[in-house]
Amino acid sequence: MGVDPRAPATYVSEPAATPEPAIRVLLVEDDTDLAQRLTASLREAGFAVDRAADGDLGAYMGETTDYDAVVLDLGLPKLSGIEVLRRWRSGGRRMPVLILTARSAWTERVEGLNAGADDYVGKPFQALEVIARLRALIRRSSGGSNPVLVQGDIAFDPAGGSVTLRGVPVILTAQELRVLSVLMHRAGRIVSQSDLLDHIYADDDVRGSNTIEVFVARLRKKLGHDAIRTVRGLGYRIG
Ligand code: CA
Repeated sequence: MGVDPRAPATYVSEPAATPEPAIRVLLVEDDTDLAQRLTASLREAGFAVDRAADGDLGAYMGETTDYDAVVLDLGLPKLSGIEVLRRWRSGGRRMPVLILTARSAWTERVEGLNAGADDYVGKPFQALEVIARLRALIRRSSGGSNPVLVQGDIAFDPAGGSVTLRGVPVILTAQELRVLSVLMHRAGRIVSQSDLLDHIYADDDVRGSNTIEVFVARLRKKLGHDAIRTVRGLGYRIG
């Protein structure tokens, strides 16, 4: 995204970050070492990652939280990955799921795809391959159903993570983009501070109580003061 020379200087007061919208990924993997390494790589790539270490918890998290994509190991304690996947699909959960399978076990891959997996990666794998496949899955799943979102003068493209104000590109940091993404996806509804925090930081990363206020203030500077409304005691709203 280039800087439009017509854009007022205040729109580009911060360096551009990776244009990553609020992408939440659930990792269901019982191997602690592998999970930690993959989580670190996914976060580095800009994803917000939650992890479940067994099938029961993974199934529950996938049922109760809207993830943009899931990385699901098939060999899991308590409930197998295949069972987890079947439960989600029979319950109408449609998020893209990438399964992790043993490299040689082609029957596992077939079983996984038949149970509703969207893609697979064989172990051992490179984190970069998982990231590339996840991005492709998310692009595919958001391609038709996530058109550019428009509220007033603001247009937000969830697939590309770009924002324009009256047609002029606005450069946002990764976290500003996440806050804006959540608000745009729920336009017309109030989003609480804790909801926004959940989308910005998975798990228990450092959270300042005024963090959201700071991001909202910066967004207002770039998008106009009235772009985001404060609903006192409840949260924020766009539209
Ligand atoms: Ca396993």
